[in-house]
Amino acid sequence: MHYHKPHTFEDALKIAANARGVTRFLAGGTDVLVQLRAGIVTPDDLIDLKLIPGVHDIARTADGGWTIGIAVSGAELGRHAALVAEWPGVVEGMNLVGSTQVQGRATLAGNLCNGSPAADSVPGLVAAGATVSVIGPNGTRKLAVEDIPASPGRTHLQAGEIVTAIHLPPRGAQGGDAYLRFIPRTEMDIAVVGCAISLTLDGDKIATARVALGAVAPKVLLVADAAAALIGTTLDDKALAALQAAATAAAQPITDRRGTVEFRKDVTAVLAARTARIAYARAKGAVK
Ligand SMILES: Cc1cc2nc3c(=O)[nH]c(=O)nc-3n(C[C@H](O)[C@H](O)[C@H](O)COP(=O)(O)OP(=O)(O)OC[C@H]3O[C@@H](n4cnc5c(N)ncnc54)[C@H](O)[C@@H]3O)c2cc1C
Repeated sequence: MHYHKPHTFEDALKIAANARGVTRFLAGGTDVLVQLRAGIVTPDDLIDLKLIPGVHDIARTADGGWTIGIAVSGAELGRHAALVAEWPGVVEGMNLVGSTQVQGRATLAGNLCNGSPAADSVPGLVAAGATVSVIGPNGTRKLAVEDIPASPGRTHLQAGEIVTAIHLPPRGAQGGDAYLRFIPRTEMDIAVVGCAISLTLDGDKIATARVALGAVAPKVLLVADAAAALIGTTLDDKALAALQAAATAAAQPITDRRGTVEFRKDVTAVLAARTARIAYARAKGAVK
């Protein structure tokens, strides 16, 4: 196996382009190294992206949003007070990943590019309207986060493409987001259902909303009907019931040893309502 430590994304790209066998990029390594040790994937070329300048930075953008480097760990995100204040749902999704040890390494980029439908940080990013910058053999492009996951373990990134940064839009006034997941244990488990909601208010009324579901389909879902059920309402019981119906209808879960289709659909409805209440309260400044 060849281990590479490029100092620019362009060099990383060249290494990937010249690689002939199995290639993996290394951000935190909490998926790659586990897969390697378990013999699931043995890369011929392992391209470590952590030495590239800027990949550990969290920076405010000119429009009031954020750019997050691809090697920023969950722990670093959680310690960034301004980011937590504006996007608590994005941060709490990432902070649910693994344990204290895993938090020291695991990244948003790795969570996204690993392609798990149950990835805890992805629904929050999708609900936030986050985008990623990508560099690849055909140049650079920007993609919405919801356009990256394809199916379990697969993404729509082309061979050799590298995510170079993650971007969050400006939060704006009266905005709030939240992420909740259900796991059978209290810690260190994969989401049976995950739900993220981001919304903005105009007075007491919901002006904009985005609803994302994890672990109930082959990829994280952005559910437009669920958002539509919230917009124009004050999150009254009727709106919550419509949200639950839309979220449940969109969910296409499977039955496995961690839950049946019926159970996952029930949990989807429960989490959607709870998540919406938290996001709404945060938008009103009532809770952090
Ligand atoms: C004990 C344990 C518990 C865990 N618990 C959870 C959990 O609760 N929830 C959860 O969602 N996950 C969990 N995970 C999985 C893992 O920690 C997360 O998916 C993590 O966010 C991966 O990030 P990373 O930086 O470590 O990725 P890496 O392992 O470095 O990379 C993951 C994949 O992304 C690709 N990649 C990385 N960076 C880029 C890039 N910039 N551009 C293109 N491709 C890239 C790699 O090639 C690889 O295929 C757990 C893992 C462990 C070991």
